[in-house]
Amino acid sequence: MHVSAIIAAGGRGRRLGAGVPKQLLDLGGRPMLQWSLDAFRSCGRIADLIVVVPPEWIDAPPACLRDERLRLVPGGRRRQDSVANGFAAVPETADVVLIHDAARPLVDTATIEAAIDAAAEAGAAIVALPARDTIKWSPGGATAAAGSPAGDAARTVERTLPREFVYLAQTPQAFRREVLRAAVQLGLSGVEATDEAALAEQAGHAVRLVAGSVRNIKVTTADDLVIAEALVNAQASGAGARAVGSPGQPTFRIGSGYDLHRFAEGRRLVLGGVEIPYDRGLSGHSDADALCHAVTDAVLGAVSLGDIGAHFPDTDERWRGASSVAMLRHAVALAAGQGFRLVNVDATIVAERPTFGPHRAAIVASLARALDLAESAVSVKAKTNEGVDATGRGEALAVHAIALLRRDG
Ligand code: MG
Repeated sequence: MHVSAIIAAGGRGRRLGAGVPKQLLDLGGRPMLQWSLDAFRSCGRIADLIVVVPPEWIDAPPACLRDERLRLVPGGRRRQDSVANGFAAVPETADVVLIHDAARPLVDTATIEAAIDAAAEAGAAIVALPARDTIKWSPGGATAAAGSPAGDAARTVERTLPREFVYLAQTPQAFRREVLRAAVQLGLSGVEATDEAALAEQAGHAVRLVAGSVRNIKVTTADDLVIAEALVNAQASGAGARAVGSPGQPTFRIGSGYDLHRFAEGRRLVLGGVEIPYDRGLSGHSDADALCHAVTDAVLGAVSLGDIGAHFPDTDERWRGASSVAMLRHAVALAAGQGFRLVNVDATIVAERPTFGPHRAAIVASLARALDLAESAVSVKAKTNEGVDATGRGEALAVHAIALLRRDG
């Protein structure tokens, strides 16, 4: 699944600090915008990160946006114009697009991932919090001026809404690409809305609710900034999210894997599921894909499920000649059975020859597909062994791999 994210940071609000744009105000030692960037970058499933910024930042971005992986686009007059500009930068291949407001710096990756999954299934999803206060309805609304007889009359409760049906929308909001396209077109046609989900609703799409967090506050006033600072400090001091009623913390597990195969005549050289042209291949069981084997062991190791030999023994006819990609997928499925999914994978191939540079992108793409990870969460490096030992003499190829998995609390 190809997931793109748009972070809306195009506002010019300076009311919270003297001369500093709101999105660059300091929060726990980092600019507020950077908190959102870090949350989305640490979510391994997001392939593209598009940031909508004030137009003057395009040529002179602040330090936290000087990252070549980010795509900066200029904001527009209204929120929906800004989102439309961001949407225009989303690749055609995107399946799901997230929109997040940079004024919500304390979003967490579990929430982002829940929004992705809900949108993939339902078409559109928003993170939202059940109302805890009693909700009053006044037809005069916030525009009715206090002090004047007409204004005071309008500032009267007409009725009390049943709280159990009321949700407070947060971000991210997530959409299948075609649903967001319909919402964006409606916004550009002149329909006013305070969020994209409202436009998707008006375009006739169902919008699913995903559990939000009280930590995911919107920083609009100076008081909000004080609360955000307190939440950051509570987290740093170990008070943790539980103290304010969020679900438990995620569990992270790390695993390492290693494999080595001898080179042999008359064999194909397959690494990460990609056949690499070379005059020799690797000998061994199945296709001898040492990269897949090392990553498989890293995944199994992270969840303490033994090693590749235990799950795919040489004696098992089921796996004879099988693609090692299939074994890797099986290991990922075993981990998923324990509630774990991959965050990222890093591997190093050790071989004197062939040269892997020209094949690296294809290998990363293939591994990312097998692992259902964004390519940005898959790293494959290669080095020689300086002529030393079996790998250095070109007799064998070795792979070291490490994998990080998470289970949400
Ligand atoms: Mg092996």
